[in-house]
Parts: sequence; structure tokens; C-alpha cells
Amino acid sequence: MKVHSFILSTLLLIVTSFGCDRVPESAIFYKGNLHTHSYWSDGNGFPGEVAAWYKDQGYHFLAVTDHNILQEGEKIVNVRGEEGIVLQELESYRSDFEEPGKFLLIHGEEISDAAERKPVHLNGINLKKMVPPAKGATVEECVINNVKAIREALKESGTPEWVIINHPNFGWALKWTDLAKSGARFFEVFNGHPGVRNYGDSIRPSTEEMWDQANKWRIDNDEPLLLGVATDDAHHYDTYKVGRANPGRGWVMVRTGDLAVNTLYEAMVNANYYCSTGVELVNFKADHKRIQLWVNPEEGVEYTTEFVGWLEGSDEPEVLKRVDGAEAAYRLTGKELFVRARVISSKIKDNPFAEGDQEMAWLQPVTP
Ligand SMILES: [Zn+2]
Ligand SMILES: [Zn+2]
Repeated sequence: MKVHSFILSTLLLIVTSFGCDRVPESAIFYKGNLHTHSYWSDGNGFPGEVAAWYKDQGYHFLAVTDHNILQEGEKIVNVRGEEGIVLQELESYRSDFEEPGKFLLIHGEEISDAAERKPVHLNGINLKKMVPPAKGATVEECVINNVKAIREALKESGTPEWVIINHPNFGWALKWTDLAKSGARFFEVFNGHPGVRNYGDSIRPSTEEMWDQANKWRIDNDEPLLLGVATDDAHHYDTYKVGRANPGRGWVMVRTGDLAVNTLYEAMVNANYYCSTGVELVNFKADHKRIQLWVNPEEGVEYTTEFVGWLEGSDEPEVLKRVDGAEAAYRLTGKELFVRARVISSKIKDNPFAEGDQEMAWLQPVTP
């Protein structure tokens, strides 16, 4: 008996330890966009058209985030050659689109503020009340004040951390220190609007570089890591081409058992999601010991995963490991302050943010 149970437990140990490397079962991911405009502000789609576009394209959830307004109350517009059109409130068209487990609409607002003549925009997701811009003498102060105000308003909804700092390089407005000190958990590492300069320029950093700098600061200051999201910031639903702010460019894939506001929120706060502009994952694992991911490969497409990290004592982040193929893994050594994975595909994105963009995915950073 003793021998048997020893063999059994040894076998179990072997199975468990090797089991980690197998492709896990496909996880359920819900696809969503957290940044969208309509005729309620400067978008050119009626609310129902916008919701229909996302639902038809297989998205599971959509946050409607017009500038400094919630889709409620009376709003009259003159558009498409007609005058006096009363826009539908979210609560009046919600039931035309929502389906349990299939599609969900979430109230939001893009709080659109400015300081030092630079735009400071933040999304509050699941707001019940419109939040006015909080103002501030400097960009840094403006970001901090708005994060505080939105968090305060979101407490009522039970989703206090669902604040996203938008497009930091729009108007070259934000520095990485603004992201670092903001108190926000989320920022847009990718935004599909053609004017937002995700990739920086020859002298100014990309949003990804700002992300790493901000997280180095947060680790040094014992603050929670900043998480990245990809969004559309869609404004234009008529013509589809580079240079227009079209839907379908960047999204989040949230891993949770149930399509509901609170479960999506919990999953996102716990970094249980990834960002994508086209690359789809079968699953991923990311903890203090390792990061593993499995791409759902498309025929004829090649994938490279880069593990970007910041080593103790180093002055800058670097690619710690590069893996070709649809599977990739990185084992943390303990010398990293943090590591994150990004997948770059050889497939050219259709109707991209910028001409020639390759489809990508981004996982959230982890610490040893
Ligand atoms: Zn904006
Ligand atoms: Zn926007």
C-alpha cells in the first residue's frame, strides 16, 4: 500500500509539473471596446448604429464614452441634413442590443479637461452620474484631480478603479511621470484614433516606453502596477480608411466566466485580460514565476513574442527574451523588477491606426 501511494503521488507530481507546459483549455475571453463616441458628442454615428456595429463585429461589450456627457437626458442635434433630431438615451436603446452572455452596454464618459493648454482626457467606465472636469494648474495636478474625482463617483457604482488615462501622447500632453503619479490603474497603451501618436517620435517616447518608465517608478514607490488597455476611440462610422477614427482597431479580451459589469471589472483590475489589435490568444498564464501564452495561429502568419522587462540596477527596460512561434514562455529569475509580454504578428492590420501596422497583442506586466 505504502509503495503504491508513493508511486501514485510521484506520478501525480510528474503529471502536475509537466501539466503546466501543455496548452491549457481555451479560456473564455470577452471582447470589448472601452472608448467610443457618437452624436452625443463629436462622433458621427447615432447611438444605435454604434452599438450595432460592435455587436455585428462579434464584440461582447462596449462602453459608450462621449466627451463630458453621459448618454442621458435630452440632446437634440442637427445632422445628415436634418434638424431637431432627439438622440436616444442609453437606457432607451440598451434592450434593443443586450443579450445575456452575448452583448452588454456600459455607461461611460470621456472626461475631457485641459491644463497648460494641453488636453487631459480620462475615461470613467460604469459611471452613474456625469463627472465634470476637475481642473488643475499643471498637467500633473489635472490628471491627479480627475482620477480622484472619477474614482469618487465610481465608488457608487462599485467599480472605483475603472478609470483610464487616455492617449497620453495626444497633443504631446502627458509625460510618463504624469502616468506614474496619477493614481490610476489603467492607461491606453494603444488608441486607434489617428491623431494620438502611440509610437512617439524621434525625440519623444512611445506609449509603451512611457508604460515601462511609469511602472519602474511605481515599483520604486510601492504603488500598484499600471495596466495597459487598447481601445478604438472611434468617431467615424461612415468612411473606413487610414486617417479616420474608425472602430475595430484595438480592444481588450477579458477572461472571466460571466459577461457582467462587475465580473469584467474584477477581471481587469486583477490583470486578467490582454490587449489586441488582431492577435488572438487561446490562453495565457502570468504569475510571479512565469509568463506563458498560446496564440491561436492563423495559417501563413508568423508570430514573435517579446518579453520586455526591467532588470534590477538597470537604467532602462529591455527585451529579455524573444520567441518565434505560436507558444512562448518566460521564467522569471527574480532579478526583474517586472516583465511583460507582447506578441507581434507578421500579418498587416486591415484599416490600421497607421499604415503598415502589424497585428499585435499585449499582456500585463508581472513582478517576481
Ligand atoms: Zn480623448
Ligand atoms: Zn475619445
